[in-house]
Amino acid sequence: MIKKAQFELEKLISGNRNFVNGTPTTKNMTLETLQKYAFHQEPYACVLTCSDSRVVPEIIFDCGIGELFVVRAAGMTTGANIVESIEYAVKKLEVPLLILLGHDDCGVMKYAKEQYPEPAKYFPSILKCVYPVLDLKEDISCHNFFARQHTIWVEDYLMKHSVIINEAVKNDKLYIAKCHFDHSTGLVEMI
Ligand SMILES: [Zn+2]
Repeated sequence: MIKKAQFELEKLISGNRNFVNGTPTTKNMTLETLQKYAFHQEPYACVLTCSDSRVVPEIIFDCGIGELFVVRAAGMTTGANIVESIEYAVKKLEVPLLILLGHDDCGVMKYAKEQYPEPAKYFPSILKCVYPVLDLKEDISCHNFFARQHTIWVEDYLMKHSVIINEAVKNDKLYIAKCHFDHSTGLVEMI
């Protein structure tokens, strides 16, 4: 893993432990912080995660304004806008770390399981990014295991559909960390 990414990842995992222990330390949540970054930003990580209201990257990683470039879509699903948002973070903001953060009890995973393999009446673009995991025919009776498998699929998708992300990873400019957030413990674990 590239050194810069490793340093930032360890910092975020340590921040998550602060959150779990009820001892958050971030001070970067004030108007003063915002004013410091009024005309520029320098986040050190991009986080792709679900829109779920219980998954709030800044809180669970114990960090504040200006630290994370967060991209969210229901089910941590992907598409052109999502890919390009991450590419912006990688190419323009030069973040060394991309965190893919799946989570427990994801409504999209549950919905996809109910619908599969029927073509979706609702949310077709979202299901299009989850059905391929079900196509693998693994035992996904556990929603949380399903979410983990989906996170792995998302990494593969990004590597195949983005030259910018692919080259950044291969040239040691970007590290992709696959993570899973457990609602019952608050812990973020590496997959
Ligand atoms: Zn979700």
